[in-house]
Amino acid sequence: MTSVLPSGSPLCGAGHVLVIGVDGVRFDLLGPASTPSVWGLGRAGFLAPVPVDETTPTWSGPCWATIATGTGVPGHGVTGNDLTGHRLADHPDFVTLATRAGLPTLLAVSGWPPLALPEDGGPLFAEASTREFTAVPEASLAWDTAGEAGLGAWDTADEAITGRATAILAGEAPWVSFVYLGAVDFAGHATGAGSAYRTAARAADQRVGRLLAAVRSRPSYERENWTTVVVTDHGHLDEGGHGGREPEVTTAWAAGAGPGIRPGTQPPITRQDEIAPLVLAAAGWRGG
Ligand SMILES: [Zn+2]
Repeated sequence: MTSVLPSGSPLCGAGHVLVIGVDGVRFDLLGPASTPSVWGLGRAGFLAPVPVDETTPTWSGPCWATIATGTGVPGHGVTGNDLTGHRLADHPDFVTLATRAGLPTLLAVSGWPPLALPEDGGPLFAEASTREFTAVPEASLAWDTAGEAGLGAWDTADEAITGRATAILAGEAPWVSFVYLGAVDFAGHATGAGSAYRTAARAADQRVGRLLAAVRSRPSYERENWTTVVVTDHGHLDEGGHGGREPEVTTAWAAGAGPGIRPGTQPPITRQDEIAPLVLAAAGWRGG
């Protein structure tokens, strides 16, 4: 299917964009053996550390808000994982902007409610033409008590959202998509940055590979000018957890490839607030 832009759209339609957000993956975990899908995307385009800036608490809420809106905490007003009091109406996320421009969009979120649902001050992503959410049981949202059952529940939720998103990407192909996987961050909180965390990161990388393959195997892929981005929000301490300014926590990262990204050159992103502008430019955004 070749997408046709609605007339009068502020997006002139440079191409499709898929952003995969994988929560809480340390930069030093990435490698050709440990995360081959992310590594391969880096080889095709770029893979770079993206530090969390000094005004941003290293919590999921503020980091994802900066990634999604292209403005920092002084703009969007999200300072923690309860988003209440945010100013996202003044600084909409890239999925919402594309949706308002009349484009088909996909928001597919695993596990963490405020990204996609009206809970804890959410949703961070306000508008999407297709919205998918796979829940984990309430008990599995509690890092310190969920234990093995939590690891299984988050893995199941990530697997389910990957299945739904790959089917949608292979079929109707939304113009701008955001897919979120949360199991790695849960594993870090629950067990520290050890073997369970690495296992979760390997599973997430395999899911990233399936999502990218769903796009690349589209019959019309060559004509659709896809830009694909994988991004994390923050790292983790060795013992698990984040929120401070330790290098293993503040060193987030992004990888991406697409028609506007030349491999082997300077990464197009060095800050979290540069991701949304890159996404919108790839989709053909002219402002508005
Ligand atoms: Zn996070």
